[in-house]
Amino acid sequence: AKSLGRNNYQIYAANVDAAQQQQAELKVRLRHAVRNDELRVFYQPQVDAVTEDIIGMEALVRWEHPELGMISPAFFIPLAEASGLIVPIGEWVLRTACAQAKAWEARYGLGLRIGVNLSAVQLMQQNLAAVVASALQDTGLDPRQLELEVTESISVKTVPHLVETLDALHAMGCGIAIDDFGTGAASLDYLRRLPADRIKIDQSFVRNIGVDPDDEAIVRATIDVAHRLKRGVVAEGVEIEQHLQFLRANGCDELQGYLFCRPLPVPSFEKLLAERERL
Ligand code: C2E
Ligand code: CA
Ligand code: CA
Ligand code: CA
Repeated sequence: AKSLGRNNYQIYAANVDAAQQQQAELKVRLRHAVRNDELRVFYQPQVDAVTEDIIGMEALVRWEHPELGMISPAFFIPLAEASGLIVPIGEWVLRTACAQAKAWEARYGLGLRIGVNLSAVQLMQQNLAAVVASALQDTGLDPRQLELEVTESISVKTVPHLVETLDALHAMGCGIAIDDFGTGAASLDYLRRLPADRIKIDQSFVRNIGVDPDDEAIVRATIDVAHRLKRGVVAEGVEIEQHLQFLRANGCDELQGYLFCRPLPVPSFEKLLAERERL
């Protein structure tokens, strides 16, 4: 049994080595991904909970690796954050998303809102507000159509000027959404301190609608407290009809999830907009 244990350990160690080596290689490749035009932005619709009209979309980045195929942001964003590459990547996503929203505005005239995720590392940059201002100016997008999503895991400890930065962005006319709401330790404190227009209920709560009465109670209470503070509420990860019915019955404003649509590449999103236009 002992020797078996050692063999297992060797196999395990070899796997760890291989995984670490692959990560190191990917980090090097990621450095070239922006320049080599390997990053893509997908767009996922957000719909009105009552009418199911599309009122906005979230920009979600993907990496189309020439050999490995489409790589999930859940995998490469942490690599990008650890290496600082998230700063140029985040700016590229922001500019691409603003330009796309402006183009759709010109073509469909729907005034759709575009949500863009910000990493803590971007928020630590002193010039973030200037970067956003320049993206808006260059693309001509109305700041009121841009919503910056800040996850609740970002703490005021790691990002000392968080409140000031978000205040500056808000003063420019940009919307602020608190992402993954309810998963961090600071939910209510955040709601009190940040200039948030909207909160996004994390999908871990939405998933448990119809399963866990405690999570249902949290969803209800979150919608209630957000509305009392005059904030909008989006639920993410809406996958089934039961989620929709519960969220609608409890007054959630907007919904995002596979029940309506997966994140789509530009041509598919345009098809969707064109279909909606004909209705
Ligand atoms: P997030 O901001 O919480 O984005 C929502 C994630 O949930 C997306 O995963 C989306 O595809 C997925 N999703 C949407 N509807 C459903 C559903 O009904 N069921 C389930 N199970 N999942 C759903 P994605 O695109 O893989 O992105 C993962 C995370 O990567 C994002 O989570 C965000 O934290 C990060 N990310 C993506 N794009 C960017 C970016 O441009 N910048 C930064 N800093 N982070 C990004
Ligand atoms: Ca998000
Ligand atoms: Ca989220
Ligand atoms: Ca998330």
